[in-house]
Amino acid sequence: MGENFAFFLPVMMASFGVMFLIVGGWSARAAGWWSAAFFCVAGGFSAPMGFAAMPMPLWGIIADILFATGFLLFSQALLQRWRPSWLLTARLAIWGGSILLCLLANIFGNLPLELVASDFGCFLLIAIPLIAAKGHLHSGADRTLFAAAALTALDNFLRGSTIPLTIAANGDFFTSSYAYLMQALACIFGLFLALSALATQMIDLLRRYQREAMVDPLSGLLNRRGFDDATSKIQAAGQPGGSLVVCDIDHFKRVNDKYGHAIGDTVISALARLLTLNASAGAISARFGGEEFVLFLPGVDAAHAAEIANDIRIGFTRTVAAKLQIDQALTASFGLSTVQRSDSSIHDAIARADEALYEAKSRGRNRVCVRRSLSRPSPARSAPVQTACA
Ligand code: GH3
Ligand code: MG
Ligand code: MG
Repeated sequence: MGENFAFFLPVMMASFGVMFLIVGGWSARAAGWWSAAFFCVAGGFSAPMGFAAMPMPLWGIIADILFATGFLLFSQALLQRWRPSWLLTARLAIWGGSILLCLLANIFGNLPLELVASDFGCFLLIAIPLIAAKGHLHSGADRTLFAAAALTALDNFLRGSTIPLTIAANGDFFTSSYAYLMQALACIFGLFLALSALATQMIDLLRRYQREAMVDPLSGLLNRRGFDDATSKIQAAGQPGGSLVVCDIDHFKRVNDKYGHAIGDTVISALARLLTLNASAGAISARFGGEEFVLFLPGVDAAHAAEIANDIRIGFTRTVAAKLQIDQALTASFGLSTVQRSDSSIHDAIARADEALYEAKSRGRNRVCVRRSLSRPSPARSAPVQTACA
C-alpha cells in the first residue's frame, strides 16, 4: 500500500504544481506560491524514490527541507488572500528552526525527533494563516479553503504528537504506521487543499474579469453594462426613485483637435472625478461612451439633483482648464430628469434627461436643464413648460 502511494503522491502534488503554474499565467493572485509549494511537497514525497541510491539520513534531511519549504510557501499563498506577508520573520524562524532541529536529529540518528520537528514545523507554518483568516472568511470558497488548511494543520499536529505510537521500535520508517498514515492522509488533504485553493483562484479570476467588463478603464467609472447592472440591483432592492443626470462636454472635438487626444482623455478623467466627488452617497456614475456621462442619484429629488449637477458644471468650468493649462473655456451641459412611477425602466428617465441635455445644448450649452416627463410625438415635444434650464 505504502509503495503505491509513494509513486502516486509525488505525481499528484507535481500535477497540482503544474496546474497552479498555468493558472498563474492568467496572473491569478498567489498562484505562483501555490505552484512552488506543491512542487516542493512533490519533491519531499519523491525523495525516498529519487534518492534511493543515497543513505537514508541524507534523503531524510532533503525531504525535511522540502516539506518545511513547501509549508512555508503554503502559508505565504494562504496569507496572500487574508493578510499578505503577515509574520514573515516569525514564519522564516519557524522554517529555519524546524530544519535545524531536523538536521541535528538526523545527525544523531533520532528518527522520532526528526519527524516531530518536521511535523510541528509544518503545523505551525500552516496554522499562522488560519489565525490571520479571522474576519476574512466572507465567501463559501474562502471558508472551504480555510477548512482544507485547518485539516492539513490538524493532520500534521496529530501525526507529530502520536509518533511513539506509530513508529515501530526497530525505527524503520518504511514499514511504520507513520509512513502509511502520512501518505494516505496527505493524499486526501492534499487533494482537498489543492482543489479548494484552485476554486478560490478561479473565482477571483472570474470576479476580476466581471469587474473589468463593467468598468470603463479611462475614467474608472462604470460603463453602460455596469450601470445597468448596478441600477437594476438598486431597483430590485425596492429603493425609491431618484434623479438621472446626463452630461456631455461642450465642443469637445475642438479640445481634441487643438490639444490632442491625450489631453482630451485627461479632460474626460477630470470630469469623471468631479462627478464622483459631487455625487450623493449611493450614487451610480457611469461613462456611456465618448465624453458622455450618466449619474443616477437614488432617492434624490429634482431640486437637489439640479444643485449637484450645477456644482459639477461650475467645478468643471473653474478648475479643469486651469489645471491642464488649456487656454480656452471648458464647459459641459447637463440634462436632468426624475424617475417616474410609470417608467418601465430607468432608461425612460435617461431618455427624458437626454432630451433635457439636447435642450441645454440648443440653448447655448454650459447649463443644466430639467425635463419633467417624456415628450410625446405631438406638439408637446417642444412645449417649453416641460423643460426648465438654469
Ligand atoms: P457638443 O458641444 O455638441 O457636444 O460638441 P462636441 O464637439 O463635444 O461633439 P460630440 O459630443 O459629438 O463630440 C464627441 C467627440 O468626443 C468626438 C470624439 O472625437 C471625442 N471622443 C470620443 N471618445 C473619446 C475618448 O475616449 N477620448 C478622447 N480624447 N476623445 C474622445
Ligand atoms: Mg460633446
Ligand atoms: Mg457627445
